[in-house]
Amino acid sequence: MTRIASSTALLRATGVWKSFGDREVLRGVDLSLATHEVVALIGASGSGKSTLLRCLGLLEPIDDGQIFLGDADISDPRVDANSVRARFGAVFQSFNLFPHLSVLDNVTLASRVVRRMPRRAAEERALALLDRVGLADKAKDHPDRLSGGQQQRVAIARAIATDPEVLLLDEITSALDPLLVGEVLELVRQLASDGATILMATHEMAFARDVAHRVVFLDEGRVLEEGTPAEVLAAPREARTREFLARFT
Ligand code: ADP
Ligand code: MG
Repeated sequence: MTRIASSTALLRATGVWKSFGDREVLRGVDLSLATHEVVALIGASGSGKSTLLRCLGLLEPIDDGQIFLGDADISDPRVDANSVRARFGAVFQSFNLFPHLSVLDNVTLASRVVRRMPRRAAEERALALLDRVGLADKAKDHPDRLSGGQQQRVAIARAIATDPEVLLLDEITSALDPLLVGEVLELVRQLASDGATILMATHEMAFARDVAHRVVFLDEGRVLEEGTPAEVLAAPREARTREFLARFT
């Protein structure tokens, strides 16, 4: 069952297959994301969540299937992958800020290189974004001076600096000290309420329940079940979804 008509999907994957060597990691994934929709991607470690996010953002080639962003088939080998990648913002589990650059330069880099924004305009915008994530006073610091939660907030500021159409968030709180998880999730909650389109792999079930419009359960490289948080998290249809969720209670 497809809940989102294809005409309203901003991002849509159909029949996506991906192997590493002889290991089939994605085995015919169908997934769609509407504009302003927040979708939580859940599933056991190794189920293919990160691979799926990387494939959707064209950070990894797919073996079969199609991926559409708007009306464009971005899985077509003839597309300009760099210009497509610039339409996504991505944040990963590990703090992947550039260690040799200041916080400000981390946030401005993509705007200056990809969007060719003049330095001054890029810095003004970056400072506004840092203010929004509560870190304007850290602009001159290097990332190693910041806590993990602050680094992830900078990574989010960097990801949204280029006005991406879709945010791909891959377990962005998993590596954080538990005390720092809340500040990062609060920021994602704000982005969601501001209308961002977000696909987020997460093990934060309470957050998925409260913030996601839809929850997708990935099981061994396939979407086994999807629906509203109330459906998937509170009343899962599939035994494997129930088994997975039982680990969180
Ligand atoms: P998840 O994010 O749900 O934990 P991943 O997408 O990271 O799952 O991994 C799914 C499977 O794909 C795992 O078995 C992992 O070892 C394998 N895998 C992921 N990336 C690579 C890679 N670059 N090369 C080989 N195997 C990979
Ligand atoms: Mg992962």
